[in-house]
Amino acid sequence: MSDIPLLPQVEAFLRRRHGLFIDGVTVHSHSSQTLDVTNPATGQVIAQVADADLADIDAAVICANQGFARWSQAAPATRGNVLLKLADLLEQHREELAQIETCQSGKIIQISRAFEVDQAAHFLRYYAGWATKISGQTLTPSLPSFNGERYTAFTLREPVGVVVGIVPWNFSTMIAIWKLASALVTGCSIIIKPSEFTPLTILRIAELAIDAGLPAGVLNVLTGGGHVGKGLVEHPGTHKVSFTGSVPTGIAVGRSAMGAGLTRATLELGGKNAAGFLRDIEVDKAVDGIIEAGFLHSGQICAAAERFYVHRSQIDAVLEKLKTRLSRLTIGSPLDERTEFGPVTHQQHQQKLLGYFAQARAENNTIIHGGKLIDRPGCYVEPTVILANSSHDTLLNEETFGPIATFLPYDSEDELLALMNNGPYGLSASLWTHDLGKALRMIPAINAGTLWVNMHTLLDPAVPFGGNRSSGVGREFGSAFIEDYTELKSVMIRY
Ligand code: NAD
Repeated sequence: MSDIPLLPQVEAFLRRRHGLFIDGVTVHSHSSQTLDVTNPATGQVIAQVADADLADIDAAVICANQGFARWSQAAPATRGNVLLKLADLLEQHREELAQIETCQSGKIIQISRAFEVDQAAHFLRYYAGWATKISGQTLTPSLPSFNGERYTAFTLREPVGVVVGIVPWNFSTMIAIWKLASALVTGCSIIIKPSEFTPLTILRIAELAIDAGLPAGVLNVLTGGGHVGKGLVEHPGTHKVSFTGSVPTGIAVGRSAMGAGLTRATLELGGKNAAGFLRDIEVDKAVDGIIEAGFLHSGQICAAAERFYVHRSQIDAVLEKLKTRLSRLTIGSPLDERTEFGPVTHQQHQQKLLGYFAQARAENNTIIHGGKLIDRPGCYVEPTVILANSSHDTLLNEETFGPIATFLPYDSEDELLALMNNGPYGLSASLWTHDLGKALRMIPAINAGTLWVNMHTLLDPAVPFGGNRSSGVGREFGSAFIEDYTELKSVMIRY
């Protein structure tokens, strides 16, 4: 097993003195504080970024407002063309961006290439198509006419202004692209605040956006800790927040946004997603589904399943087969193209997962597979399978955001539905069955923003995505994003 060599431009990028990206150029922060970026596969510091301060936030907000004044006047086709060009540039720099992403996040290189770059380009092209299709309505009011006067009305969709895009560490490129593409296509400007753990790739993409023809000030990037996100949300010069991250931070961001004068907020949060396997599904198919739903990118996907419900008559066979399949996974360096399972993204997360293993043991859950750290440098944990005792057990209620699949058997389909709907969240869920009629009857009874049948985790830009209940507010993708990035203006005319 051996790592692919890093491209010279990746080595050179990592060696840079990284700054903030404001007004189309890299500038040094007013703050002397820096944050280390650590490669989770080796534990080594690979770069340092600025921990921006209030003066940096002010500078970025001023430039983003100037950028908004220019960009909101650009012709819709011009906006679309810039996004198309940026998609081309992502593909031309595919390997460079994928390697930077893998070095900072530990994501295996194939996932960095396929999701962080290829999917990001696909999303950009999808949003570019909307540029020329965002429109209002014409309406006829029924107001009284005393002297022959008549009325007409129309609505305009106007960009909300300066957007704050706050991004988590699990898909630092793709999620940033969702936000910047939604903002730019509607005529907004944006300030991206990447996660403190994975701030690098978006700094490079911001440079490519200028090469794609984006005017200065329209896309800005401020690196730093949570205080940078908070400062941006509370700033009077920002007008909308698009946040993706954990439930507790999302609630804090929602409060800050409301307190800052009812700043619009879209909150894409976590969950505790369920996968339910009906009795007709064969054991092999169930195991394929569990690996797709629970173990892609070491389970560090908001939409991944963490609760698995299997009919009592099948659960022993499913667990046995799953154990065999997981024990054959090739675990190793994320820069080795043969690796199927890499590290988790940072040390605090590794420690959190270790805490969940201890909790499962304390509650007398059965560890079917894994349940330990992997004995090698870096943030590795074993892919883990747990059999719980009851729906009240911690591992069936708290989001681990890791490669931990927790199981409970069920006896009847009514019980399955009740188990799947257990808890305060509602981001995603999946049903696995050959009986599509049965699936269609169960779909309305399941609480989830996205429900998959015989698949899990995969997203498409044409299909809206977001959470019910405590998993969030608002939707991304499809036409749903237009509501969130534009204000509706009604115009009435008497003639
Ligand atoms: P997090 O909530 O810890 O951090 C997310 C971002 O918020 C980071 O950039 C962080 O610096 C910033 N932040 C922290 N405090 C802030 C504050 N007070 N004000 C403004 N910004 C602040 O989340 P994380 O650990 O980076 O990501 C993992 C979580 O994200 C999981 O819960 C996962 O389910 C969720 N997630 C959800 C989706 C979705 O689309 N629903 C997608 C990916 C991840």
